[in-house]
Amino acid sequence: MAKTADVIIIGGGISGCSAAYQLARRGARVCLLEKSHLAAGSTGRTVGIIRQHYSNEVTARMALRSLRVWQDFEQVIGGDAGFVNSGVIFAVGPHEREKMAANVAMQRGVGIRVELLDIESLREVAPELNGADFGGIAYEPEGGYADGALAAAAFARRATDEGAEIRQGITVRRILTEQGRAIGVETEDGTMHAPVVINAAGPWAAQLTAQLGTQTPAQASRHQVAVFQQPPGSALAGHPFVADFVHHFYTRGETGALTLAGSLDPREAEDVVGDPDHYNESVSMDFNAEMADLTVARLPAMAEAHVGKGWVGLYTVTPDWHPIIGPLPGTEGLILAYGFSGSGFKMGPVVGEMLADLALGERQCPIDPAPFRLQRFAEGELFRGGYGEGGGLIG
Ligand SMILES: Cc1cc2nc3c(=O)[nH]c(=O)nc-3n(C[C@H](O)[C@H](O)[C@H](O)COP(=O)(O)OP(=O)(O)OC[C@H]3O[C@@H](n4cnc5c(N)ncnc54)[C@H](O)[C@@H]3O)c2cc1C
Repeated sequence: MAKTADVIIIGGGISGCSAAYQLARRGARVCLLEKSHLAAGSTGRTVGIIRQHYSNEVTARMALRSLRVWQDFEQVIGGDAGFVNSGVIFAVGPHEREKMAANVAMQRGVGIRVELLDIESLREVAPELNGADFGGIAYEPEGGYADGALAAAAFARRATDEGAEIRQGITVRRILTEQGRAIGVETEDGTMHAPVVINAAGPWAAQLTAQLGTQTPAQASRHQVAVFQQPPGSALAGHPFVADFVHHFYTRGETGALTLAGSLDPREAEDVVGDPDHYNESVSMDFNAEMADLTVARLPAMAEAHVGKGWVGLYTVTPDWHPIIGPLPGTEGLILAYGFSGSGFKMGPVVGEMLADLALGERQCPIDPAPFRLQRFAEGELFRGGYGEGGGLIG
């Protein structure tokens, strides 16, 4: 049996491309297979927020480690990921003020630059924002957003420079196993062999794993994004990202005098998609109207805004809104990396390091992937954050 590579990666989103780079730079022979084109899945439709506001130490550390890459992307990876340092504001109602203060203390403890603002200091940071009913406000001056397609392409380019093979337009039909271990993949272009296979196929990943007889709890669900054209002459250009947990929605500025808005209501995950290749990709009028009302309430200058063409992408959501990163028990050499539950883009840089560690049996990254193991669901060790059940993607 001829070995094609040391590691085969399924999926050319941010997770797969970052892992390809990390593996190649450590000297592994890596082959990434992408059924369509790079960033064809969730990565190409991300809103791209890069925030540090997580409510447990592990994910806060992961977000911070990744932020350092986003901030210095050209030096560290090469190329442009479109990182914009817009600043990030998280706001909760009065009843969650204490939880937020505890989370911010934890975040500062791991080295995140974050401060609690009162209404007066919020006006200085974001004069355009109406936060009169906010009970707790956390501000991250270093946060912002980046571009999914640019970022994945830059990681892939760098991976190729380091010797990785990136093959687009190749669909993996199934993962091959023999005597309880992964031996490669069957593609529409033939069979490829490797002792390690990483399943980073995003919304499609659980179906590939299910072919091996194991159901993993990661469901694809629709996430709509509304786009608004800011009124001419408004001072809104470059307004910060605001995660509003009073009204459970977010908004951020975008180049071209645009403002984006989407839901933070965890019930969105109930809009499950059976086939990630065929789902309703239209933003509904009701959603646009709801987001318009919420956006105007927070950014009154948006009252004269126009509705633009939004988009829909897929989250891959697990029961505790945290990813599955780790081996599939009973199938040696198969590593799962999906279920990022609407917040995996920003984590791309560190997830690549964690996957390289798992694939090569190393521990170069200071983040231990163990809390993300698949078995936690069966063990009842769900990964919960400081905001509890309703925290959803705050993690
Ligand atoms: C609308 C939207 C907004 C979001 N906003 C944010 C945000 O603000 N911040 C944030 O951090 N995260 C956000 N996310 C989540 C984030 O985008 C995802 O968690 C992340 O992009 C997942 O990347 P991935 O590489 O794991 O998966 P994907 O990007 O989905 O990549 C999987 C790839 O696998 C390929 N593939 C699938 N099956 C096969 C096969 N059989 N053979 C070969 N290739 C295959 C697909 O074509 C795809 O390219 C958002 C997601 C959406 C949809």
